[in-house]
Amino acid sequence: MLSYEDARALVFQKIKPLGKCTRPLNESQGVALSEDILAPHGIPSFDNSGVDGYAVQSQDIAQASAENSVLLENQGYIAAGDSVNQKMHSGQCMQIATGAPLPKGANSIVMKEDVEIEGSKIRFTQSIQEKENVRYLGEDIPKGDTIIKSGTVIGPAQIATLATFGFSQVPVHKVPKVSIVSTGSELIDIVGKPTDGQIRESNRFMLAGMVRQEYCKILKITMVPDLPEVLHEAFEEALKADVTLICGGMSIGEKDFAKHLLNELGVEEIFWKIKFKPGKPLFFGTRGKTIVFGLPGNPASSYVLFEEFVRPALRKMMGRKVLEESMVKATLEIPITKTYGRLHFMRGLLHEENGEFRVRPLKFQGSHSIGSLVSSNALIRVEANSPCIPAGNKVFVRPLRNEII
Ligand code: AMP
Ligand code: MG
Repeated sequence: MLSYEDARALVFQKIKPLGKCTRPLNESQGVALSEDILAPHGIPSFDNSGVDGYAVQSQDIAQASAENSVLLENQGYIAAGDSVNQKMHSGQCMQIATGAPLPKGANSIVMKEDVEIEGSKIRFTQSIQEKENVRYLGEDIPKGDTIIKSGTVIGPAQIATLATFGFSQVPVHKVPKVSIVSTGSELIDIVGKPTDGQIRESNRFMLAGMVRQEYCKILKITMVPDLPEVLHEAFEEALKADVTLICGGMSIGEKDFAKHLLNELGVEEIFWKIKFKPGKPLFFGTRGKTIVFGLPGNPASSYVLFEEFVRPALRKMMGRKVLEESMVKATLEIPITKTYGRLHFMRGLLHEENGEFRVRPLKFQGSHSIGSLVSSNALIRVEANSPCIPAGNKVFVRPLRNEII
């Protein structure tokens, strides 16, 4: 059986970015840039004022003080959006708004609060440094700088930057289309009332939610009973996606048809079963360009396997450089007394106290446990055959995107 590390290495080796396209800027959030963005011009794009005040030549008021104030002639007002051709000379000043272009000849701006207005003259009672309150061309982002690297996911800050530089269309990586099939004759829809032995299906919505967190497209989500003909048809349809997630029926039970059917449908098995808890029967395969993950039906197993295998795989396909949330080191608050034969990613509660991460494993670690999903915000890495880990020890933890208040 493959180790977690070897299995992940195989997934990353098999998966390649899907390719490139362009998107309108306001539809680009969550996808990865496919090119480095070089600043086509400097930002600020012209010298302008950082405050509402008066543009001056700093040397004119170099000696100014309360006792020795200086009067300068106001030449008018420059609003944000105005263009100025006028040159300012010694003895003059100009009223100026935040963001308005600096008039030629001026080299600093005195704040409005620091002057007295006397008709057309302005009284200055303090000196000012050259360049003070001026935002100079290119001082924020110099022309030609690589401002966003290819492979960066686009978020609000990137959108602001791309808009500033006039990118109405953005070069991005394609995002995978994902199909999800939940299998199991015990499963009924949310609106149904379960009779004996039945449960409401939850995994397809959970997995779809996780796929949406990565801004990938959902092609289709379905739920089918453990009937080979029905499964066959549903799988064939689902295999039209870039990524097919089959949930349930991956193990060795009498009604676990999924793996056999995937083989029958021409899916090449890359691995099946890993030395990992929760979620030993993970299946990974390909058919042509389609990537197939077979996840066990137990909700906690499929959730954790999505975090550790599917999420980073989706990100790699969509050209992202950051494939997952980094693990952090946290202090264990209660001991882990049980020894597990496989590497175990335990569901836990992570919090921060005085700048330090602290974590406690949840009591209930059953792979069927929905309760542990909704109560955990982290996965604690516990090595196979690890002896008791005392409280106070440091452990590696993967933070999860799950708010617990
Ligand atoms: P399986 O992997 O098909 O053997 O299922 C393992 C366990 O997970 C069983 O208790 C199933 O009832 C449960 N299960 C399977 N699929 C789902 C699902 N889509 N939603 C909720 N529970 C499921
Ligand atoms: Mg089943």
